[in-house]
Amino acid sequence: MALLSEVKSDYGRLKNLVNGEWIDSNSADELEVENPSTGKSVAKVPLSTVDEVKAAVEAAQEAWAGWRETPPITRARLMFDLKALLEDNFEDIARIMVQEQGKTLDEARGETRRTIENVEVAAGIPSLMMGYNLEDGAASGIDEEAIVSPLGVFAAICPFNFPAMIPFWFWPYAVATGNTYVLKPSEQVPITQNYIFHLVDKAGFPPGVVNLVNGDRGVADALMEHPGVKGISFVGSTPVAKYIYKKSAEHGKRVQAQGGAKNSLVVMPDAVIDRTVPNMLASFYGCAGQRCLAGSNLVAVGDCADPLLEKFVEGSKKIKMGYGLDESVNMGPVISAASKKRVLGYIDGAEAEGAKVILDGRNAKVPGYEGGHFVGPTIIDGVTPDMKVAKEEIFGPVVSYMRMDSLDEAIDFIHASPFGNAASLYTQSGRSAHDFRYKTQCGNIGINVGIVAAMAYFPFAGYKNSHFGDLHGQGRDAVKFFTDRKVVITRWF
Ligand code: NAD
Repeated sequence: MALLSEVKSDYGRLKNLVNGEWIDSNSADELEVENPSTGKSVAKVPLSTVDEVKAAVEAAQEAWAGWRETPPITRARLMFDLKALLEDNFEDIARIMVQEQGKTLDEARGETRRTIENVEVAAGIPSLMMGYNLEDGAASGIDEEAIVSPLGVFAAICPFNFPAMIPFWFWPYAVATGNTYVLKPSEQVPITQNYIFHLVDKAGFPPGVVNLVNGDRGVADALMEHPGVKGISFVGSTPVAKYIYKKSAEHGKRVQAQGGAKNSLVVMPDAVIDRTVPNMLASFYGCAGQRCLAGSNLVAVGDCADPLLEKFVEGSKKIKMGYGLDESVNMGPVISAASKKRVLGYIDGAEAEGAKVILDGRNAKVPGYEGGHFVGPTIIDGVTPDMKVAKEEIFGPVVSYMRMDSLDEAIDFIHASPFGNAASLYTQSGRSAHDFRYKTQCGNIGINVGIVAAMAYFPFAGYKNSHFGDLHGQGRDAVKFFTDRKVVITRWF
């Protein structure tokens, strides 16, 4: 099938949006942004300086005075304008994501939809942000109320796997509630937000309300160290999430830090195999296994293990890899050469520990895309709980196949993990489903659903090493994170 066109073949050196102006960074340090399907550079991203971060935070601080006094309904109207622009440019946003991130067009379109849904939910801010009051709450003739107010400047530090959506878990809510913002996209996939921020700019937010600064950990540190930033939202790997949580707290900031994952999909003997397999294939191989909600361990309980494995292998062999701008492709590459090396290291390690690679994606090739970072669907059988591939985040299209005797054994195994992002159970039994969702200590639980992606009006949850801080992105949790309560007691003379 023919490839759909790229929006551009080269996006040049990306600029920062500060105080309503697109500015070239002074920094001589820059990175190439690579198309992971071809291995070719498609842009350069500057690693902005500390002074440039300061300028962005100061612009946001200055803009706050006027923005905080802009009524919620006016702020909401700008969200409607932005939504219209995002809809008009829907296809270009999706294609840019395919080009810089490697996902398929279907996946990128789904992500674009999720991005817009967060703008839609944030547009409900006049209702979402209401406080509460109690007549005679303090005493007779003395009323008490809690007013919900914004705090100032917030910032986000984002990962590579959802270039459009993840920044939108945060900033639309922060800005709709009356804060101003500085966003740092992932240096591996900065083009999508760069493109989207041209639309944000066009939507007419006053200068300085929403700013974008490109860079890597240097920008992240400068944001955390700046006294003008009130809170940090982070999504990424667990070691960095821990660092961000600690450092932001040391600098007196609110922080929400989403970390990595190791998700198990458990299949009971009474599961409807034919219906579960396509759902599980999407969980393990969607986005080439680079979702924090992706299945990683496939745990078969009891005597379904062999028939399930047979069907799962059969389905895995049908996955077509390639460049996502070919709409017939259903799996793209992993993000980089380093990432591919890490994934292959896990597969080699599992063999060394005694497991058996029964479907091997290590030498997968896509003709015409020899420079791409492709890893084929890989299934490792005979994995036991003590093996690295059962415990650590792989972040690639690799299935650790495990066999267990009971649901309780599977739940105990999930509990032994330091991660608590997602877990799914496939069953027809109401009792098993109840026990699983009741007992399992994970933030996102699926029953006959393999990718537990919360809609924009639900929080994106996470337990244990998958989340640090108390409130989550999206919906009402985000509104709480970006606001504080002011209690007012009024005596009426
Ligand atoms: P990463 O931790 O390498 O990078 C994330 C961000 O942190 C980037 O913007 C990067 O510039 C910055 N960063 C990296 N090292 C830093 C440091 N030492 N100090 C300060 N900032 C630093 O993550 P990634 O590889 O981009 O993303 C993949 C990871 O994200 C996976 O572990 C995945 O599970 C996780 N993830 C989690 C969720 C969730 O909701 N729990 C969602 C998506 C992705």
